Order: sequence, then C-alpha cells, then structure tokens
Amino acid sequence: MINHIGILTSGGDAPGMNTALYAVVKTAQQFNIKVTGIRKGFEGLINNDLISLDLETLQSTMHLGGTILKTARCDAFKTVQGRQSAINTINKNGIDALIIIGGDGSFKGAMWLMQLSDIQCIGIPGTIDNDLAGTDYTLGFDTAVNTSMQCIDKIRDTAESHNRVFVIEVMGRDSGYIAAYSGLTSGADAILIPESKNDILRLLAKIKSYHSEHAFIVVVAEGDETGTEIVCNKIKSVNPLIDVRLTKLGHLQRGGNPTANDRMLAIGLGSLSVHALVENKTGVMAGIINNKYCLTKFESIFKKHEITEEVEELLSMFSS
Ligand code: ADP
Repeated sequence: MINHIGILTSGGDAPGMNTALYAVVKTAQQFNIKVTGIRKGFEGLINNDLISLDLETLQSTMHLGGTILKTARCDAFKTVQGRQSAINTINKNGIDALIIIGGDGSFKGAMWLMQLSDIQCIGIPGTIDNDLAGTDYTLGFDTAVNTSMQCIDKIRDTAESHNRVFVIEVMGRDSGYIAAYSGLTSGADAILIPESKNDILRLLAKIKSYHSEHAFIVVVAEGDETGTEIVCNKIKSVNPLIDVRLTKLGHLQRGGNPTANDRMLAIGLGSLSVHALVENKTGVMAGIINNKYCLTKFESIFKKHEITEEVEELLSMFSS
C-alpha cells in the first residue's frame, strides 16, 4: 500500500521532465497518494532537501523545459555514507516509493537503493539522447531533434547563400539518434553517427563530386569516432578550395519548451508510473514500444538502444 511517493529528476535535464512531474502528481491525487519533490537528484536525498508539490504550481510549469526540481550529478551518492544518508531521508520522511526521472546512471542509483532498503522504485526515461533500451523514445528527444533541425535549417539559409560546406555537431553522447533524426529531417547531405563505421568514407567520396554551386550540410553526432575537426580537415584535404565552416550546436539542444510529442510521452509515462506503484511493481522503467506503454526491468535497459533498421535504411539512402 503506497501512501507517499518521492520524486526526483537526476543526471542531464531534458524537456518533458516538468510535464512528467505534473502527470505524476495529477495521477497520484486520484489515489490519495502524497507526492514530495526531492531537489537536485540524489543530492537532495542525501541532504534531506525536499519540497511539497502542489498541482496548481505544476500545471503552470508543465510546459517549461529544464526541471523545476533541479538536477545534479552526485558523486557522494556513490559512497557508502552517501547511500546511507539517502536511505535515512527516505525512512525519516515516510516515503514508500520513488519515481526517478533520468538516464541509465540514475537507474543504476535506483537499483542500489532497492538493494539497501524495501523502497519501491520506478524509472521514467528522461534524456535527450534516446540512448535507453526498453523504450522507443525518451523524454526530451523529440524536442532536441526539433531544436537541432531548426538550427540546421537556419544554417542552411546562410550556407546556400554562400555555397558553403557546413559541418554541424549535434549532441547524443554515444548515440547517433539526434544526428540521424535531425540530419534526415533537415535534408543533410551526409550524416555521421557512432553506430556506422563507413560514414566518413561515403562523405569523402561524395565531396569529391561537390561542385560548389550549392550548400553541403554534414551532420555529425558528438560520439562519432572521427570528430568534427578531423571531418573538416579531411574535407579540406580532398579540395583545399572548399569553404568549410564548423558549428557545434551544444547545450541549446537541451533547452526549450517540450514538444507535444514529448508532453504526451511524459503524461503517459508519469501516469503509468503511479499505476505501476499502486500495483506493487518495482525495479522497472516506464517506456513506450510500438506505441504501447510498457514496463521494462532496470537490468534490461542498460544495453545499447540500437538505431532501428528502418532508420538505418533511410540513412543509407539519404546520406550517401
Ligand atoms: P544519467 O542518469 O542522465 O545517465 P548520470 O550518469 O550522471 O546521468 O547519473 C546520475 C546520477 O546517478 C549520478 O550523479 C550518480 O549519483 C548516480 N549514478 C550514476 N551511475 C551510477 C552507478 N553506476 N551506480 C550508482 N549510482 C550511479
């Protein structure tokens, strides 16, 4: 029987986290469950930094990017003392269950808490990188792709005007999802992702026939093994006369109001998380697979979230 849920956002922030907070509190109200916010991820659990969450406030912030609970990367949580302080906070405040919105690191932290106590834990995938197995999409990915796509569109305007080659680095850590989606949707000439080894060779073959009468856009995932500076140098080595410019989109991809898709995902997964706790589920992440909400054991989500075959085919057709 759950009476009191603690909720935290942890690791990298992602648009949609605030929508998920709203959805959790709204659903919990229907079961008369109290929800307390834990500030700054696991740091707040260690320091007993809690705030009460009311639905009206969350309704007025559910459309904002970032996280009103704040987030942090917390090394102290990895120590025995840190974990014990976190358990003390849970016990002292009578928290029966935790909902953790974050990425794989945050869910590893949740598994530690479950080993040390009876706390029920449910994860909601919140990361722009879309790098978790157990869900087709994570909160923030769609917003980040839209932001990147719009930035690439803007770069194209100037690139077309000057017939320039632009190499654009997008985020994604080890995953090529943001690069694949933002590159395809902005009509990039080449897309380099960590999942594919021969992208650079295909790009160099293509640049040989580039005749400088139009723009040429190369989108590179930050985790790609070649790296953007080397990509620029290699393009120059094919033809030193080519005017190559490098833009790294950086953290602006993390911000902004969540898209409707991200908000729908947050509402669905926030609601599912509370229902799962009420049904005594624990140690699972809420996700969406083939348009159906589902729960996947934490142990199964740490493997690589592969780029789907369908997207791979599109990549080989459109960026070669
Ligand atoms: P994300 O959740 O976005 O992957 P991090 O990897 O930074 O972000 O993890 C967030 C927090 O989760 C870390 O600051 C740390 O407190 C905790 N954490 C990360 N990795 C582990 C781990 N292997 N075991 C336990 N806790 C972890």
